[in-house]
Amino acid sequence: MTAAPQKNGEALLKVSGLGGGYGGMPVLHDVSLEIFPAEIVALVGSNGAGKTTLLRALSRVLACTGQIVLKGKNLVPMTPDQAFGVGLVQVPEGRQLFDRMTVQDNLLMGAFQRSDKAAIARDLERMYTLFPRLSERRRQIAGSMSGGEQQMCAMARGLMAAPVLLMIDEMSLGLAPVIAEQLMEVLAAIRAEGVTVLLVEQDIHLALSGADRGYVMETGRIVHSGSAKDLIDDPEVRRAYLGL
Ligand code: ATP
Repeated sequence: MTAAPQKNGEALLKVSGLGGGYGGMPVLHDVSLEIFPAEIVALVGSNGAGKTTLLRALSRVLACTGQIVLKGKNLVPMTPDQAFGVGLVQVPEGRQLFDRMTVQDNLLMGAFQRSDKAAIARDLERMYTLFPRLSERRRQIAGSMSGGEQQMCAMARGLMAAPVLLMIDEMSLGLAPVIAEQLMEVLAAIRAEGVTVLLVEQDIHLALSGADRGYVMETGRIVHSGSAKDLIDDPEVRRAYLGL
């Protein structure tokens, strides 16, 4: 996969000194990261490292300390709805589709805060071009599709919100490797259109193979960061996470 130019201009997302946890039990410790426009950034780490907790803090579901700035806007005082409104869109772990609705209605739900009808119609067609499988299945009930198709539907629904930053939690979970690789190729295509992605993955090899840069988390801290290529080549990362 060809890497896009990295670190274009100002950081789109700037997180610094982030802390947070559950019921007084700290999970995140002084987490700092930056994401630049049109990058795919992988956030990787083993089970329980705190990746989902970090996403919850970013999307404002979880109380936190520290700073989260998206395109110049301070997200910390915002509700999850307000953060969504300024373009922080999450594709949740386990897809969480509206199972009894059609594919098309799920996609349109993604655009529920938008009022630009012509642009919504254009984006819907764009989704069907990006995901031809969804185009064939646009009238199918979402809950009746395969796991891979449901993941495509969840990603397309997220994109229909016209995100400033699309955060995808465990994209490859439960999917055959070949499907997960196809989804990585879709991410490269949407990056080429200027979309910025934070990809949270337990499958570290997959995530780093498609990302521009990566952050490795361990017990709530960022322990490694760098270009995806440097991380794949880092002997410590290889030994600890890639079993190499
Ligand atoms: P996984 O890939 O397994 O989801 P993760 O890196 O996303 O792992 P988190 O789910 O963020 O990790 O969990 C980080 C820590 O926070 C773990 O110790 C976990 O037990 C704890 N934790 C997660 N959710 C809750 C919760 N709702 N209440 C209390 N503790 C939680």
